[in-house]
Amino acid sequence: MRQFAVVTAIAAALALSAAAVAGAAPKVAPPAMTQAELEKRFDALIDTKDMDGWMKDMASQPNHVGSPHDKANAEYMLAKFKAWGWDAHIETFDVLYPTPISETLEIVGPTPFKATLQEPPIVGDTTEHAMAGALPAWVAFGADGDVTSDLVYVNFGMPDDYKALERLGIDVKGKIVIARYGAGWRGLKPKLAQDHGAIGCIIYSDPAQDGYVQDDAYPNGPARPPHSFQRGSVADMPIYPGDPLTPGYGSTKDAKRIPIAEAKTILKIPVLPISYADAQVFLSQLKGPVAPPSFRGGLPITYHVGPGPAKVHLATKAEWTNKTIYDVVAVMKGSQYPDQWIVRGNHHDGWVYGASDPLSGNVAMMSEMKAIGTLVKQGWRPKRTLVYASWDAEEPMLLGSTEYAETHAVELKAHALIYINTDNNGRGFLGVEGNHDFQRMVNGVANDVIDPEANVSIGQRLRANLMVDAAAPGANGQAQAMGKLAASDRDLPLGPLGSGSDYSAFLQHLGVPAINFGFGGEDSGGGVYHSAYDTYEHYSRFVDPGFVYGGVMAKTAGRMVLRVSESELPTQRFGDFADTVSTYLDEVKGLANSRRDAAEAQERLLKTGAYRLADDPHRPEAAPAFEGRVPFINFAPLDNSVDRLKRSAKAYDAALAAKGGGLSADKVAKLNTMTRDIDQLLLDDVGLPFRPWYRNMVYAPGRFTGYGAKTLPGVREAIEERRYDDAARYVGITAKVLDAYSDRLDQATALINGN
Ligand SMILES: [Zn+2]
Repeated sequence: MRQFAVVTAIAAALALSAAAVAGAAPKVAPPAMTQAELEKRFDALIDTKDMDGWMKDMASQPNHVGSPHDKANAEYMLAKFKAWGWDAHIETFDVLYPTPISETLEIVGPTPFKATLQEPPIVGDTTEHAMAGALPAWVAFGADGDVTSDLVYVNFGMPDDYKALERLGIDVKGKIVIARYGAGWRGLKPKLAQDHGAIGCIIYSDPAQDGYVQDDAYPNGPARPPHSFQRGSVADMPIYPGDPLTPGYGSTKDAKRIPIAEAKTILKIPVLPISYADAQVFLSQLKGPVAPPSFRGGLPITYHVGPGPAKVHLATKAEWTNKTIYDVVAVMKGSQYPDQWIVRGNHHDGWVYGASDPLSGNVAMMSEMKAIGTLVKQGWRPKRTLVYASWDAEEPMLLGSTEYAETHAVELKAHALIYINTDNNGRGFLGVEGNHDFQRMVNGVANDVIDPEANVSIGQRLRANLMVDAAAPGANGQAQAMGKLAASDRDLPLGPLGSGSDYSAFLQHLGVPAINFGFGGEDSGGGVYHSAYDTYEHYSRFVDPGFVYGGVMAKTAGRMVLRVSESELPTQRFGDFADTVSTYLDEVKGLANSRRDAAEAQERLLKTGAYRLADDPHRPEAAPAFEGRVPFINFAPLDNSVDRLKRSAKAYDAALAAKGGGLSADKVAKLNTMTRDIDQLLLDDVGLPFRPWYRNMVYAPGRFTGYGAKTLPGVREAIEERRYDDAARYVGITAKVLDAYSDRLDQATALINGN
């Protein structure tokens, strides 16, 4: 029944489109296609050789924001999108983007040393002949400054590390800290250092994370070579992404800007990234206590925390002006529901050449666009409108997508049905995150795309991997639960979305549901992350030789786009969302209980003097400060809302399954309208504490994780941060948005049932 409806609708669409593109289209409309036939034709048009050639061109020169090649890449794509039949244009914004003027980092004593802050060329690599204009060691949105002080090693620079230092009697006030990459988002390291009174911050790549401990170093293998460093943004993204001077609205030419001094997302201390070749010299000049076991990395030294005796001089100066950025936006108008948009994006700016990050994902997206353009030239037409975007300036702080989403907020809220994002791609297993009402759609796609290495579907291969991981010695409870699920016939869960790529403004500011995915697990492509060695040569030798997984990415994203755009009925299944929210509520309640138990245990240990008795007098550690009792929180309003959500979602899913195929065209259209923007109901205008830009009450990036997601964030983070009044308040706010969601589901169910 449903299949039949789809076939006739495609036939109708084809008849329409033949007229619409008269001249370009063949005179006789091709025969009607099933969805499977459409996808087969789409697959046949994906050409990995195209991707190889586009990456070679686009990664041939530095293409960071403000570089000539970044603009040239936008124009290169624009010409192609137009030639492929898309209605394309470049949309520009003027964003604050600091570019480095000078950096100094040196040990002034006891043994002077000057950090190199440059990545040397490698023979046979793009770095050999195209380093002109490449950014030096640099992070965007640290402050200008010139400071000299004793150095302290703070491990990953996360909250627990400062607690450990406090027990060792180490204070970073007035000091310069050195932190290693890992365990939390880059920008949190200088921010937490600044909050603890440090006056400067160095971040280095320890070989334990992505260097020789992991794999052979480039060019012999994929891992990070000794003089390579990780650039990046250190803006305070958990407050709001996008232009620091235009919070919540687009940085169009005439937009009002707040003064730089008032921008909350710009740090107050200078920051520089360095290589492990340099870091080893800095760390080996530290004395003081031997670092706790969790602080020790992969360098051949004994790690000490300091402070000093190494005294460090750190100075940075940047040009703080607006730069023009170039989003390339292309539209293919829908035939049947032109007012419903499927938005698909990937960014195009890199830190240097950006082969893996972001061009690997960008060229896969270009391949989808070429294939869809060809299908349209052959007479097919999408039912819903497709909007493809290659964003600029993702790297400094999701600028291109955020400014676009803020500028076009009204249209996007009125039309966007879903936003599908990719970024850098690797080789191996599917990793996918997103809104859980699309979990069934994603699983359907994963069951149909073939993995070229294993010759089974990418879904089956992922299941096999999860089952093998679960059987490994020492597998944790989470891995075992995933293995069990993978062995069953139930759908695989989507991860929740935090931040770290261009979906953030869509999902967390506008409420447009989003999917983000990529492949990985077999390559060690992270070894050149945000370095000059993220080149075409590195990518095609070590990450995805032959662009095999580029092809898989295009087929996966293309199917997601085409299934949502062509489906007669809404593709969401809301029971998955309701069940997932229910598990999040269980987690949050469990968190409150375990925090309460931990506080009680700590109080006992303090009262009985256990910390003192267990201490090693030769390496003394003070007892931790008492963290305070955890009160009981009333979760009843959320319990009731989640219970109702489950019932409403199941009733809707059952009604759609039973009666969806027989609905009148008028009812189908109404149903599509009712479900298109339902996820926007998860927003509350009050936003999250300290960061009202983030309005989604189910999905957010963590204040202290940066990229990592916090679900039911208003409640969860309030418990984590001991803001118990906020916890109670956000129980109510979250319950309210879930009730609105249930109301909408009940209305849709009533429409289907005809009463
Ligand atoms: Zn990226």
